[in-house]
Amino acid sequence: MLGTYENSEAVALHTSSSSPSGSFARQLIAMPYVITEPCIDVRDQACVTVCPVACIHFDVGKDRKLYIDPKECIDCGACEPMCPVRAIYSEYDLPYKWDRFTRIDALWYRDKDAARAMVDATPKGR
Ligand code: SF4
Ligand code: SF4
Repeated sequence: MLGTYENSEAVALHTSSSSPSGSFARQLIAMPYVITEPCIDVRDQACVTVCPVACIHFDVGKDRKLYIDPKECIDCGACEPMCPVRAIYSEYDLPYKWDRFTRIDALWYRDKDAARAMVDATPKGR
């Protein structure tokens, strides 16, 4: 369901903290899986084919990566091994350098242009 995700963004911002409180907040909030930088300009949709709740989205011709809806993801993990470029991580395995993608994925469901701008500003491999 696409709608208001203000809380998701706020939560994602909190989870970007490396402080103990940030880690604690991350555990409390459902942000199970995130799609990171390697997906950019790949978009083969292998993950979409296995998601049981159809919570992975993008707009053809507009988005350079796909996004996981943090409100709908049921944390099943089916998508992670399907990705040919290892772009999908659980919140517990997410490399620190890609921590901001928790915010980017959540933001897309509230403000697609803002999320796309963050993707465009992402250096290759970072
Ligand atoms: S973890 Fe499961 S529910 Fe979440 S995006 Fe991946 S396949 Fe979909
Ligand atoms: S499988 Fe990986 S590269 Fe392909 S669309 Fe999904 S996240 Fe992107």
